[in-house]
Amino acid sequence: MNVPFVDLKKQYQDIKPEIDRAIQEVIENTAFIGGKYVKAFEQQFAELYGVKHVIACANGTDSLYILMKMLGIGQGDEVITVANSWISSSETITQAGATPVFVDIHPDYYSMDETLLERAITSNTKAVILVHLQGQIADVEAIQNICRQKGIYLIEDCAQSHFSEYKGIRAGLTGIAASFSFYPGKNLGAYGDAGCIITNDDELATKCRMYANHGSLTKHKHEIEGINSRMDGLQAAILSAKLPHILQWTEQRIHNAALYAKHLGGIKEIVLPQVRPDSKHTYHVYMIRAANRDALMAHLREQGIETALHYPVILPLLKAYSYLGYTSKDFPVASAYQETILSLPMYPELTEEHIAYVAETIAAFYKS
Ligand SMILES: *Cc1c(COP(=O)(O)O)cnc(C)c1O
Repeated sequence: MNVPFVDLKKQYQDIKPEIDRAIQEVIENTAFIGGKYVKAFEQQFAELYGVKHVIACANGTDSLYILMKMLGIGQGDEVITVANSWISSSETITQAGATPVFVDIHPDYYSMDETLLERAITSNTKAVILVHLQGQIADVEAIQNICRQKGIYLIEDCAQSHFSEYKGIRAGLTGIAASFSFYPGKNLGAYGDAGCIITNDDELATKCRMYANHGSLTKHKHEIEGINSRMDGLQAAILSAKLPHILQWTEQRIHNAALYAKHLGGIKEIVLPQVRPDSKHTYHVYMIRAANRDALMAHLREQGIETALHYPVILPLLKAYSYLGYTSKDFPVASAYQETILSLPMYPELTEEHIAYVAETIAAFYKS
């Protein structure tokens, strides 16, 4: 049996008429950049997510960069993020002119360890970019309390946590603003690059909208210099077509995670993901920790099962950050886990047959 890591084609086949119609309509209306399909998606996403403003932009990375620029973060400032994430969470800090500072991960929940945040804050700290990695929300309540006390901004990176919750509050609704990615493989994915900012702050929303569109809200009136970071009409229409399915797809991921737990339960060489109490994990990634990881990964590949590493090298140890002088001792948890983490196939269309096969193959590996 073949189990791909993701199966975007299966999802397309399930909703083909809706997607094809959406694409056709955009072409007929030649609404290629910005325009009515983008506006419609912004409104639909705002309503479903429960937020006042959605500002569409070109990708998730830009949404972080735009937010930092519009919050006045720049030269001489420090911004704190987590040691294990995708590089967008830290490269946008540098892009804005500030310096990234990394905090180790929580040993059970893999997001930023809230107990380590305070000691990373200096008089130059302006913001925390909190990543809700893999669909597991960080302790936003504790982290927002620290940010409030210290007078720094909390920005939530929700690229992997669409519709995740902590104590009934959705990811992205605790801080000043949040960024989302709609990269094709994300829980809500376009058919190309796309992203957005969400916020309940009117002034920040206006600034971000302006900055993402060359500093202008009205054609030829450039109040500031900005950048070109707009969503395509095609991507917006595709996202609108997918939006009515997202809550069901999310439940299906949660259901599949429960099936993994059922089938993998007895294997003592692996550690299954744990869910933070009072929270809703939306399983963008289903990551286990496994003994003899590299050999297991190779064995699974031979048996037709594709897996991945999130991430093979933690951010502060990447060559790109060697100038900051960090060593693995600075991040004992994240750097130890780097050697054992393994992400298994996870998507709504995965069947129990797939999951049972993955589990049997893992069990067989440890028996031999
Ligand atoms: C995917 C991702 C991003 C960036 O999104 P793009 O749309 O690819 O630019 C940012 N942060 C995290 C944690 C991500 O996983």
